[in-house]
Amino acid sequence: MSAPVVHGWCPGALRPMMSGDGLVVRVRAPLGRLTQEQAAGVARLAAEHGNGLIDMSARANVQIRGVSPASHPALIDGLTALGLIDRDVAAETRRNLVIQPFWSEGDLTHRIAHALTEALAQPDAPDLPGKFGFAVECGPEPILRATSADIRIERGENGLILRPDGSDLAAPVTEDTAAEAALDLARWFLASGGAPEGRGRMARHLASGAVLPGQFREAPVVAGAAAPAPGTTSAGQLVALEFGQITASTLAAQAELAPIRVTPWRMLLLEGMTEAPDLPGLIHDAHDPRLRIDVCTGAPGCPQALSPTRDLARTLAPHLPASQRLHISGCAKGCAHPGPAALTLTATAPARFDLIRDGRADATPEATGLAPDQIKKAI
Ligand code: SF4
Repeated sequence: MSAPVVHGWCPGALRPMMSGDGLVVRVRAPLGRLTQEQAAGVARLAAEHGNGLIDMSARANVQIRGVSPASHPALIDGLTALGLIDRDVAAETRRNLVIQPFWSEGDLTHRIAHALTEALAQPDAPDLPGKFGFAVECGPEPILRATSADIRIERGENGLILRPDGSDLAAPVTEDTAAEAALDLARWFLASGGAPEGRGRMARHLASGAVLPGQFREAPVVAGAAAPAPGTTSAGQLVALEFGQITASTLAAQAELAPIRVTPWRMLLLEGMTEAPDLPGLIHDAHDPRLRIDVCTGAPGCPQALSPTRDLARTLAPHLPASQRLHISGCAKGCAHPGPAALTLTATAPARFDLIRDGRADATPEATGLAPDQIKKAI
């Protein structure tokens, strides 16, 4: 078995990534929100130029799958008309920003996220590695701690703070200084050697011994909360997608109901709705076992996959012990869940998986080469 390929960058819309089912075109919805017109347009374009399947990424992006190189220019024209395309690849790469999705129009989270988006679009903004990103949440209880980000603007016990991921140190900021301070921290990351050969993450850089500038000090952080469950929220209905994927037709039906906020939890927030829509592919029950399974694209969608993964996830869901999480990975790279999980199945051949307990997809397995029936018994 060959080692999985590490690309070191994430696909965008202008710089898509080739996968097993065609190009993956990642759309970064401005401030994590699609108007009804934009959502309807994305659904129509995904059906016209892709294979009609749309993934929601763990960084709250919308990924149109199955696009052929020949239809990519027409797709970009359509997305541009919807206001969803950046000026160029560099601007698109920098605008890697996750926003706490329950913001209200004009509140602090919304205002700072807007300011940071504008700052990242300036020509003098730092050119950051493709996976480097920001998280903004100014509410009393952080809920994005488990979401991948390198620079976080959040609320500490004594007010707004700027916190580099992987550090207990933070710098106090205000609404007026937060965006520029975040960019200054990004510049420090580059200048202090955080991205040799254009790749790097903040937590790794700090763990290797990099010393933060003097204004970063011990700052009491507020305890974070877990990701919310599907259901009614103050901002609308939170609906989960089976394994983070939605069809173009279900997205189009949702677009008729409400503007949509994309969350980093493989869920969509339907703004202002008080009742859950009855549409195919949506999960409303917070106890549905499929919500406890992280599963990657697998074969044939991913060229590195050694087996299909999603059918196995559907088969195993009813057998998953309550309260346990399962990670099914088409190869040892573990894209769907980079950290350890209670149970991990890593494909080693078509319909054959290694079983790992309390480890990552590339950890030493407890059992090897299991077929689906053997896995059911083992878990
Ligand atoms: S973990 Fe899954 S999606 Fe990632 S490279 Fe391997 S097979 Fe592909």
